[in-house]
Amino acid sequence: MMAKRGFDVVVREKRSDPRINSGPDGRSINLAMSAKGINALRYVGIFDEVEHLLMPMKGRMLHLQGGQTDLQPYGQFDHEFIYSVSRLKLNHLLIDKAEKLGVRLKFCHSVEKFDDSGINFNSDRGAYVLPAESVIIADGAGSRVRKSYGHHQPIMPSEDILPHSYKELTIPANDDGGFKISKRALHIWPRGQFMLIALPNLDGDFTLTLFMPTKGNVSFDALRNKIEVEEFFEKFFPDTLDLIPNISEQFFQNPTGILGTVRCNHWHHNDQFILMGDAAHAMVPFHAQGMNSAFDDCVVFDSIVSKKLSGWKEVFQEFEKKQKKNADAIQAMALDNYIEMRDGVLDSKFALKKELSFELERRIPSHFIPRYSMVMFHKNIPYSVSYKRGEIQKEILNELTEKANKISEIDLDYAEKIVRKRLDPL
Ligand SMILES: Cc1cc2nc3c(=O)[nH]c(=O)nc-3n(C[C@H](O)[C@H](O)[C@H](O)COP(=O)(O)OP(=O)(O)OC[C@H]3O[C@@H](n4cnc5c(N)ncnc54)[C@H](O)[C@@H]3O)c2cc1C
Repeated sequence: MMAKRGFDVVVREKRSDPRINSGPDGRSINLAMSAKGINALRYVGIFDEVEHLLMPMKGRMLHLQGGQTDLQPYGQFDHEFIYSVSRLKLNHLLIDKAEKLGVRLKFCHSVEKFDDSGINFNSDRGAYVLPAESVIIADGAGSRVRKSYGHHQPIMPSEDILPHSYKELTIPANDDGGFKISKRALHIWPRGQFMLIALPNLDGDFTLTLFMPTKGNVSFDALRNKIEVEEFFEKFFPDTLDLIPNISEQFFQNPTGILGTVRCNHWHHNDQFILMGDAAHAMVPFHAQGMNSAFDDCVVFDSIVSKKLSGWKEVFQEFEKKQKKNADAIQAMALDNYIEMRDGVLDSKFALKKELSFELERRIPSHFIPRYSMVMFHKNIPYSVSYKRGEIQKEILNELTEKANKISEIDLDYAEKIVRKRLDPL
């Protein structure tokens, strides 16, 4: 986006060029993309080229403990899909595009810290310092620049590590390249305190992620050997045993990742640099919005740059003012969604509330859109609005379903009346 505006852009990246060395990077293999991510790709004019990399997922396929399955659609309208995309393929495409626009890419250049002398780098040619002048810092959740700040300094960063971790496993494709389970869904095996999820890949395989407490009776720490891993899967996920070959080998070969939320009081240091994406606001992955919100940051930043304000400080300030409340909101919703995915979906009232939400959305779409749909399918509804309205909607749904077991027991005219009373039109 910046190169398209005529800026001379240099990208410095710690790792080597992933188009040449595409080994695993310790992050998720695929990602769920939704409205804000797609909007950013359209905004920059490359969605058509990304589209063929996307695998549409219509809903959550629940795999219950007894082996039954239940497809819960994410939305109710035909276009309401989310998409699975390969992180690597998307990265390759974006890097190629940037390069074609004249962006100069410097791989194996690692930022070390920010101090009075500027931004300190290390590279295979040695260490060097660059003046901190209009720099976009996007070095991810473990941002070195952010870590250069103490808790008392203006950026005031904090990191909340979740007491749950994750591990990725693979369900390979069938010998003929076909999918072993439905490719049109995001699969979830919800088990209360923990869960397993699976996203399809274009090549017929699925990437599974086990999310579970790090310590405790049922935890990553408690699975110390082959027998313990196999017994764990036999007990909680017996229907996956035929799908995942060498389960214990995969389990011990693949790293266990930590999850957390990064918050900062400010994202910029005068006009010197701005933190963006995970460096500013990393979140737990349960609403699948980390990348989507980072892409949204780019669109918002570019639209502010286009206003030609008086200087970078003003651009950074306006960006922070516009996006920080949205980052706070999506971080909170991402934490909520972990409970919903692993536990909430098993609640007997969950399906009823969902049915009622869809009914209200059909009756009064100007006033009521389910929170999940606002976040995932509506590019123009900011996260802060989805969060605020979602809290009011939650209260309304709780009230209306308190004494009802099916939708026919709910007075829908009354429901419509209270929605109109408590929520302004969108
Ligand atoms: C398990 C898991 C599943 C996820 N699933 C989803 C999903 O389904 N949908 C979604 O939207 N989001 C998802 N996310 C979140 C998403 O991965 C991140 O929000 C997104 O990658 C953030 O992009 P970023 O560019 O800010 O940071 P990153 O993707 O972390 O990129 C940072 C870049 O900076 C480089 N770098 C790091 N340190 C330095 C340094 N010192 N010097 C120079 N360069 C450096 C890195 O090599 C990297 O290239 C998931 C995250 C995890 C962990």
